[in-house]
Amino acid sequence: MAKYIAEPYRIKVVEMIKQTTYEERLDYLKNAGYNPFALRSEDVYIDLLTDSGTGAMSDQQWGALMVGDEAYAGSRSYYKLEAMVKKITNYRYFIPAHQGRGAEHVMLPLLMKKDNMVFISNMHFDTTRAHVELAGARAIDCVIDACFDTATYHPFKGNFDLEKLEQIIIEKGPENIAGIIMTVTNNSAGGQPVSMENLRAVSAIADRHNITKIIDGARYAENAYFVKSREQGYQDTDILTISHELFSFADIFLMSAKKDGLVNMGGVIAIKDDTELFKRAQTRVVPYEGFPTYGGMSGRDMEALAVGMFEALDEHYLKHRLDQVRYLGDRLKAAGVPIQFPVGGHAVFVDCKKFAAHIPFDQFPAQSVVNALYLEAGVRAVEIGSFLLGRDPDTHENLESPVEFMRLTIPRRTYTYAHLDVVADAVIAVYQKRDKLVGLTFDYEPPVLRHFTARLRYL
Ligand SMILES: *Cc1c(COP(=O)(O)O)cnc(C)c1O
Repeated sequence: MAKYIAEPYRIKVVEMIKQTTYEERLDYLKNAGYNPFALRSEDVYIDLLTDSGTGAMSDQQWGALMVGDEAYAGSRSYYKLEAMVKKITNYRYFIPAHQGRGAEHVMLPLLMKKDNMVFISNMHFDTTRAHVELAGARAIDCVIDACFDTATYHPFKGNFDLEKLEQIIIEKGPENIAGIIMTVTNNSAGGQPVSMENLRAVSAIADRHNITKIIDGARYAENAYFVKSREQGYQDTDILTISHELFSFADIFLMSAKKDGLVNMGGVIAIKDDTELFKRAQTRVVPYEGFPTYGGMSGRDMEALAVGMFEALDEHYLKHRLDQVRYLGDRLKAAGVPIQFPVGGHAVFVDCKKFAAHIPFDQFPAQSVVNALYLEAGVRAVEIGSFLLGRDPDTHENLESPVEFMRLTIPRRTYTYAHLDVVADAVIAVYQKRDKLVGLTFDYEPPVLRHFTARLRYL
């Protein structure tokens, strides 16, 4: 068997990237307050901060930009995108948003029928959690325990714990649940897929209690490919058909198009059939995102997204995409680096609870590893752990995350396997001198989504 699957594309345009010296990187990182979010991207050699909006568009997408219709109202590009969203979801209604959090900001408050409601998710993504809280609700996660056992194989670590879900619903009372958010794939725990069987069961539980079902589906196509390759009965089913079944289990679809939309900016709100909710969303989108036929997107961007959503269904593309992540994971695992296993769809998550076991959660072990990796080779990763999680809204104590991850996020169609070898070599080098890693504390801590703009120092 080949070590990896060759790219299903050839390269038409290149962008040069800069290599730097260790001394330069030390300087850059210090100026960034030991938070790589504050680095200039030109000072990064291989940028694995996120897969969000960082992918490469195809020649077809670049071509589509030229035919964008920039009309304020009734843009032709809107109708093209609407047709594509309907084709993929089988939903009746579509509203564009500028990105995923825009879609959340429009939709989530509309589901609050009274104060102090809760949303339940396998795991809320950080902006989703922020919008739940800004809407005055509480966010409760109920993913299976296997998700936190990084060393043990489970094909669908993004699954809901169904017993826990029932229990939370009974405990809080169904009338106090604003919605169940199915995050596919489960970004925060490693881009881990959710099985169709699990989604079917969650949907049935929600229906029994008359609770609204939302798919947070930034990576629905990657999830569909995992279903095809891991779940019995789907081997001969195409991605579009799998997607139809997936969307049939929800009432609302929210999407950051910066992921499986294969564009740099954009978001999607789709509603299955609730006309009243659609009207309310159309009213709310105007002041926050824009007129309902552009919702924060330019006509050309809607054109590119319509093409990108179609390209993301291509199995050759998806197979290569997931194989890149698999390859990086295998190299790290072979060297003994602790990772979330199996790897998910968009990133390798390095388990820094084990990697830097001597650093306590409130000194941010994963952030310390992220910084060391940048210094080692100019590779930028991101922390997904207690630094990101923030503080308890009541007590203001630092919350201890059940996971301390360094996420090595692979942008779509952007880097080659040779780049991934550079990354693997650097992570392994840091791992071999992990005893020298030191914890961090705040110099400056912003009140919400602190990880984006915080400044840190070594203890
Ligand atoms: C990225 C993401 C979002 C937020 O989308 P943005 O486009 O970054 O605003 C929401 N949910 C999930 C699962 C995501 O991955």
